[in-house]
Amino acid sequence: MTKGQKIGVIVPIYNEEENLPELKRRLSLVLDSTGLDYEVILVDDGSKDGSLNLMREYNAKDPRWKALSLSRNFSHGSACTAGLDYIDADAVVFVDADLQDPPELIPEFIKKWREGYEVVFGARTGRPESFLRQAVTGVFYRLLNSMSATPLPLDAGIFSLLDRSAADSLKKLPERHRYLTGLRAWVGYKQISVPYERQSRHASEPKQSVAKLVSLAFDAIFGFSSTPLRAATLLGLVMAAGSFLFSLDVFYDKFFTDKPIIGWSSTMVLISWTGGMILFTLGIIGEYIGRIYDEIKQRPIYLIKERIGI
Ligand code: UDP
Ligand code: MG
Repeated sequence: MTKGQKIGVIVPIYNEEENLPELKRRLSLVLDSTGLDYEVILVDDGSKDGSLNLMREYNAKDPRWKALSLSRNFSHGSACTAGLDYIDADAVVFVDADLQDPPELIPEFIKKWREGYEVVFGARTGRPESFLRQAVTGVFYRLLNSMSATPLPLDAGIFSLLDRSAADSLKKLPERHRYLTGLRAWVGYKQISVPYERQSRHASEPKQSVAKLVSLAFDAIFGFSSTPLRAATLLGLVMAAGSFLFSLDVFYDKFFTDKPIIGWSSTMVLISWTGGMILFTLGIIGEYIGRIYDEIKQRPIYLIKERIGI
């Protein structure tokens, strides 16, 4: 298979001034070593530190290093999408700025791409994260997979290479809530994973807050599965059946025995329990409705304030 010769790298950036110089150094080394033509798009997702100034500096020195600056902080997924819309390459690589995903793996990705794989993604074997975070993510990914109609890769993130065909398909997906790992699995094509050990952050703290991770997890669940809706229906059925049996029992006690009808505490328990379940299922429905609303508004996924070298 003859493949084109240009690699495009997309890096989402939110307050990464401490990581950018090292990223630039290591990524340049790796990309130069491939002997291929390349361009890098650094996407500034509304950084408040000196990241954007560094990007301007890099572009002035080397026009292959380009940048997009979004009008505010959108999200990791939005930043990656912006990069995807502007990159011009035969194969696109997504990599985080914090060097948790080693750029040195990119030649391995390219090798698989040359073998004919259109999607090559890194699968994390070790995680430098705390035991708790590992356990939570492990359970989450497995749960998600059991619910999703699309088989989603376990322990994979955005670190990947996409052939132009797969990248163009990913670009066509219009949704606002962008769980890119899932969307990448959804587009299909010939996919393969490359195992690697995830490193600790090169510098500074994670930029994805816990709230952002939770919202990403919700995007993954509600964007890739309608199992929660079915579970709500089942829960309703089970509770209706249970309360029917219970009312038969109460009816029997009232008319055929001398037993007093059970009192206040059991009533309160039942009321609060059903109330809780009703709110819970309403919440599930609400998650879907909120997503429908977000889609209907048709707001853009990101807004660009400045293009540097593009
Ligand atoms: N990031 C971003 N927008 C955000 C949060 C993060 O562009 O709102 C970038 C961040 O600068 C980094 C990448 O996304 O390059 C991954 O972020 P982080 O390392 O915090 O996530 P984690 O590795 O914990 O998943
Ligand atoms: Mg990280």
